[in-house]
Amino acid sequence: MSLTVRVGQGFDVHPFSDDPGRALVLGGVPFEGPGLAGHSDADAVAHAVIDALLGAAGLGDIGQHFPDSDPSLAGADSLDLLRRAVAAVRAAGWVPGNVDCTVVLEAPRLAPRRAEMQERLTDAVGAPVTVKGKRAEGLGALGRREGIACFAVAVVTGEG
Ligand SMILES: [Zn+2]
Repeated sequence: MSLTVRVGQGFDVHPFSDDPGRALVLGGVPFEGPGLAGHSDADAVAHAVIDALLGAAGLGDIGQHFPDSDPSLAGADSLDLLRRAVAAVRAAGWVPGNVDCTVVLEAPRLAPRRAEMQERLTDAVGAPVTVKGKRAEGLGALGRREGIACFAVAVVTGEG
């Protein structure tokens, strides 16, 4: 019996919404808008973490587990989706080790809320989740403030 370590990566991007009433949620933490467009709450950070964990466990991707054609997921709290994804990862025999995220955005500044994001994500995953903010330095769609992207990498362990 040996310990197997597997790694997964996740990426997500959402454009900003035209709806002024839409909230901006990143890593389960509400920020000053504008919000992001999407079927759920459009939390690109939570979604990238989900894909990283599912990928590490060999369980496909977020679209298979939580299709955006599912009306019950409209406006869904993505931390709930993350908890459900973690339950699936654990049910498959894998234990999350840690997750690290890089959020690419010009605004808002993440630093003042980073500890809170890390706490909420860590609580949902049951393992350390770290978050870094990175500006796109004005380049491309992200640099023009058209949306927010997130990269995540996750490690899971199990007896494989
Ligand atoms: Zn997403």
